[in-house]
This record gives sequence, structure tokens and C-alpha cells, in this order.
Amino acid sequence: MAYTNFTLETTDGIALITWDMPEKSMNVIDMSVMDELERIIDQVAADDAVTGAIITSGKATFTGGADLTMLEGLLRDFRKAHTGDAEAATRTLFEGSRRLSLIYRKLETCGKPFVAALSGTTMGGGTELALACHARIAAEGDAFKMALPEVKVGLFPGAGGTQRVMRMCDPQQGLQFLLQGKTLDAAKAKAMKLIDATAPADGLVAAARALLSAGVDPVKPWDKKGFRLPGGAIQSPAGFQFWPAATAIYRRETHDNYPGARALLQSVYEGLQLPMDQALTVESRYFAHVLQSPEAAAMIRSLFVSMQELNKGARRPAAQPERRIAKLGVLGAGFMGAGIAYVSARAGIEVVLIDREQAAADKGKAHSDELMTKAIKRGKARAEDKEALLSRITATTDYALLGDCDLVIEAVFEDREVKRAVTEQAEAAMKPGAIYASNTSTLPITSLAEASRRPADFIGIHFFSPVDKMMLVEVIMGKQTGDAALATALDFIRAIKKTPIVVNDSRGFYTSRVVMTYIREGLMMLADGVPAAMIETCGKMAGMPVGPLSLGDEVALDLAWKIVSATRKDMGAAYQAGPLDAILEDMVVKRERFGRKNGKGFYDYQGRDKALWPGIPEVTGQPKPAEDFDVADLKQRLLVMQALETARIFEEGCLSDVREADVGSILGFGFAPFTGGTLSYIDGMGSKAFVALCERFAKAHGDRFAPNALLKEMARTDQRFYQRFPPEKASEAA
Ligand code: NAD
Repeated sequence: MAYTNFTLETTDGIALITWDMPEKSMNVIDMSVMDELERIIDQVAADDAVTGAIITSGKATFTGGADLTMLEGLLRDFRKAHTGDAEAATRTLFEGSRRLSLIYRKLETCGKPFVAALSGTTMGGGTELALACHARIAAEGDAFKMALPEVKVGLFPGAGGTQRVMRMCDPQQGLQFLLQGKTLDAAKAKAMKLIDATAPADGLVAAARALLSAGVDPVKPWDKKGFRLPGGAIQSPAGFQFWPAATAIYRRETHDNYPGARALLQSVYEGLQLPMDQALTVESRYFAHVLQSPEAAAMIRSLFVSMQELNKGARRPAAQPERRIAKLGVLGAGFMGAGIAYVSARAGIEVVLIDREQAAADKGKAHSDELMTKAIKRGKARAEDKEALLSRITATTDYALLGDCDLVIEAVFEDREVKRAVTEQAEAAMKPGAIYASNTSTLPITSLAEASRRPADFIGIHFFSPVDKMMLVEVIMGKQTGDAALATALDFIRAIKKTPIVVNDSRGFYTSRVVMTYIREGLMMLADGVPAAMIETCGKMAGMPVGPLSLGDEVALDLAWKIVSATRKDMGAAYQAGPLDAILEDMVVKRERFGRKNGKGFYDYQGRDKALWPGIPEVTGQPKPAEDFDVADLKQRLLVMQALETARIFEEGCLSDVREADVGSILGFGFAPFTGGTLSYIDGMGSKAFVALCERFAKAHGDRFAPNALLKEMARTDQRFYQRFPPEKASEAA
């Protein structure tokens, strides 16, 4: 039988199934893969000449998992059909979404042993396929990665993953692996008993053959009488200790915001008390249910579909030829410059790292040394990788070395005059056509470009700290920035494997501006008498990674005070001082509490530990009792303020693509991921409800909540952002 996505060859009774999808760089599970896999399993099971099978990949990696757009399609069909025969539509969705699970179960119970020979990345549905096999061998070395990351897009592993992991692993480790969606290397996966052995990448199939020849049991332990769960049954003394703690940890970590994570826990808890086939049905029921949740739809759209589109260059001007950045210049080897040099050198780019003094440039390079040493210690890199990476970075004070750089990124002090001087100095050395970028966090690019002799080649490339961890990069278009600069910036960001958003120039651009409103709202709550601990908890319950006061400390309160003072100076008599000014002035000017950077802000810091500063009431007055405040209201205030600011930025034209607003908010400042991002949050409740909420808050808390004209207009017909500004249009315009 011929297959498109697989080849099947039988030698000495062993069928070698090689998964190698044509015209794709990575295998993904789609409808045609499911169809063919099922036929292959039937063929292997029916062929008396075959005693066992090996399933492997013809590509460098096993698979990236299921094609989530397939699930989106299922859901679209369901929604259409649901308006007619709702029951039939639900049944169709259930059957469609459990198809993979049934195919894997067929493989597991077909009577012949299957061994998975796994190389490179093994994700989601691919991991579940491996777990359904009767043994697993993974490639040695750092290339192998295994994960069930479904919770990160609002779902959970629905093709047997929850049931098999928990029947194979220690319950605590298994549950953590499932709930966090974390990636395992080969050693960890083996220690957790999720793989049986490792072999060199080019000897995987031979090792699988040897395993089959030695004998692999085609019946799984859980399909035999007397099977016992690794950590003991749920209804046992051990289970009674484990499960209450597990649910408590779930609530602490998620604040019950993620239906996918909740359903995961439910399906594990219920499924582990049932025989495998019924357990899988339970898992499928929860999966079909979660698939319909608004959270899953929003997360799949932003964190899978949109993110992929942006990564692939949705906003890249198509007419521009692709540009490989062979050599990068970095000006300023401080905190950010050192990080930019590291991520670039890691991607194979030659880096010239410049500072005023050789010692400062060397210090910047030493940052890469430290990060690589850490990576080696954790088994994530080898000594020769470190050497190669460091050999790509030239630390110097000599601007002449910028001569053959394709791109230069400036990360010197946030000071116009310093920036002007380095721009002139760098441009004097740069070759024609090379692009110059500033990493400024606040200064408008158009004004910085005034120092440039070629403003069309001048752009903003704004990294987030820490550079090696943060996945987002905000690209800022100055008034005169040209397409070549944009294309180069996007090609560079793609090379270092980060996600770009492209925004138009304005003070604070997008992310910094919204983050400041979150911090400001936290301060306004303090002024309202809300207890500090309650503000912080409400921030986290709303889905933010940290509370607003904590974030204020991270960003630095003296910086916030500087911004407030500058605005006050700019606006003169028109400025209306509020309670926020008094709090900041007291904290910064009177008490020198600047935030994390000097160990004291709204928190006291001791090493890694921090605790809310007990003296806050000295600044704000005694807080009111917590009972005076409604938790749901406080949570909403924090999210509404950020979403509203985003809508304003959209109206002003600084943001022009809804995908970028959403993806940027989640990756840039951790805006409650379950909402799908700032604009999806508004769309989720509808512009009408959102405007009503803003008006209610404006009445209670002030004009900062007044909805903008765009929102009010949209609210008239309850229009959604994704309807009014369909992403394809933004791409066309770009
Ligand atoms: P930093 O003070 O750690 O580093 C600045 C470096 O620039 C110093 O090493 C300094 O010696 C060097 N420098 C100053 N003048 C120079 C010159 N004429 N030639 C060469 N080098 C010179 O500052 P940072 O935190 O890395 O910030 C750098 C830039 O990045 C600023 O524009 C800042 O706004 C922006 N930024 C910072 C963050 C952050 O979280 N720190 C985030 C995003 C953007």
C-alpha cells in the first residue's frame, strides 16, 4: 500500500514506518496523517509476516505535534452546525476530536509491539503517539526534547496523554509535567520512565530492532489484571494525601482561570479510577468540552496561529529581498547590549560589541561566558559550544570594526545626547545600506533619527529584559523608516528565533505604555485604601504574572517618578496632580525607596526573598478593611485599564494589527494569557459590555477609564476588533 506521509518497509518481520511528510520541514499531525496511520496499523496488525513495528521520523525531528488549525476547523464546523441540530453537532465534535485517541488505542491494543524511535523534537500528539507505543527509544544528546505543551494553548493532552503519563510516572512528577507543559530532555524523560532507553541518533532504528528482537510485550501493564498505579490508587492512604494537595497547587498556580488545566486534573482524577478504554472516553469528553471554551479559542488564536504568522513574517514587506545578518554591531555593552550580543552570537551571528572602555566591553562579553557556563552545568550546552559562541563576539572600543556590519543596534544610556553622539560615530564607520537600530525604551524613534544622515535606514528594535528569556521584540517604525530597515529588522529577529511586533512611533510605544497603566492602577488602588496584599493578590488572580506594586518595583519607582515629573513639566499648569504623585514623591524623594534596584520599594528585598514593606501605610494612610472591596471589581479594573489603553493606542495608529496587540501583550508583559491578549479580552466580552464597564469605572474612579471614540463607535453595534480589523487586511497593508 502506498502512503503519502509515511513509508513502510518490512525486513526480517519488522515493519519500519518512517514518517516524512513531503514539502514540510517538520512532521505535523493532520487529517491525512491520521487516515494513513490508521491504515498502517491495520496493515501491520493483519500481516502475519510482521512480528513488530518501529515508528520513526525521516526528518531531523519526530514531530511538532498536531496542526492546531485542524482543531480550529473542527470547532468552526461545530459552531455552524450547532445552530441547527445542537446534539448532532456536539456528537460530531466529540467524535472528531477523539479520533486520534482512538487510533492510538488501536495501536496499543493491536497485538503487535510498536517501538517509537524518537529524534529531535517530540511534541504534543507526537509524544502521545510515542506513549501509546510499547517501548520508546530517544536520541542521545541535547537535540531530543519531549513535551505535552497543550495547556499553554488552553487545551490539555487529549489523545491519551493524561491517562498514560499518570500510569507510567510518579504521580507528582507526572502531574507537574502535564500541568506545566514543560519540556523534558532525554535524561529527565528516562528518569520519569517516559522513555525506556537512549541511543545515538544514527543508531536509533538499530537499537529499536534489537529491542524488538529481545522481545517487547505487546500488552500494556494497564491492560493486564492486577495493574497498580505507580503512586497507589486514588482511593488509598497515599492517594488521600496526594490529591487534596494537588488541587490546592492547581488553584494556587492557575487561580482557576484555565478550563484546560482544570479539565486535565478532572480527567486524570476520574480516569485513574477506571479501566483504560473508559478512562480515554472520560478524557475525550473533557477534551471536547474544553475545545469549546472561549479561553481555548482565544489562546489557540493568539499563542499558536497569530504567533506563528508573526514569526513567519506576516508584517514583512514582501518585495524586500531576504537579508542574512552575518555581522551585527552592538553599541553599549551594558545590561541590554550584553544580552543582545549573547542571543545573536548563539544564533551564529558575528558580533562586534562596543563600549567606551575596553573593560566595559569585556564585561559585556563576560555575560555570554556566564550564561554558557550555566548552560553547560545544566547539560544544555557543551564546552565547544561556549568556545564557538565566545569566538563570535569581538569586544572592543573601536568603531571602525562596524565597517562590515549589516545591522547595528544601539543600547547605550537612555540619554538623547549620548545617543546622538554614538549614532554619528557609528554611521561614519558603517557601510552603505547597513541598518541602524535603537533599543530605546521610551524615546520616540523619529526624534532619535534626527541625528542620522540616513533616517530611512533608522529603526527601533526594542528588546525586553532579560534578553535571553523574553521572546518578544518590539520593532518601531520612525516617520521616515523605510521598508529595507523593516525587512532587515524582521529577518534579524527571525534569525534569533524571537517573535516580532511592529508598531508606529509614539512615546512608550505599545508595551511600556500599557505596563505603566497597570502599575498606575495598582497605585491608585493604594490611594483608594485597598490593602497592598489584596492589590497584589488581585493582580495575580486576574492572570497577571506579578502584582502591580511588584512590577512597579521591578521597573523602578524613581523611573516612574521621573516620567511623572517630566509630564508635569511638559504640561505646566494643565497638569492635574493626583494621589499617585504624592505616593511616588513620598516613596522616591523622601524615603529613597526606588524598588528592587536598591533593595527597597513597595517590597523589602533580601537576596531572592521579598516581603511587602510594612511601612506602606505611613505613605498611603491606613488601608480600609478588605471586606470593603469587591475582588471581582479589583481584578477587572486591572485588566480593563490595560485593554482600554491598548484600544487607545490602536485608535492612535501606533498599533495596526490586532494579532500584534494580543501576542505583544502576552509575551511582552504577561497580560492574562487565558484571555488571548488585550484586544481579545475586549472581544471576549464584546465592545458593548466593555464600554459599559469602562463607563461604570469612570464614574467610580475617574476619567482615566473613559472609553475612547473608537470603542464607543464599535459598541453601537457590539462590533469585535477581529471583525473590524481582520488580520489579513493588516498584512496586505504592510
Ligand atoms: P546600561 O547602563 O546597563 O548600559 C549602557 C551601556 O552603554 C554602558 O555599558 C555604558 O558604558 C555604555 N555607553 C554609554 N555611552 C557610550 C558610548 N558613547 N559608546 C559606547 N558605549 C557607551 O543600560 P541598559 O539597561 O543596558 O539600557 C540601554 C538601553 O536599552 C537604554 O536605551 C534603555 O532605555 C534600553 N532598554 C533597557 C531595558 C532594561 O530593562 N534595562 C529594556 C529595554 C530597553
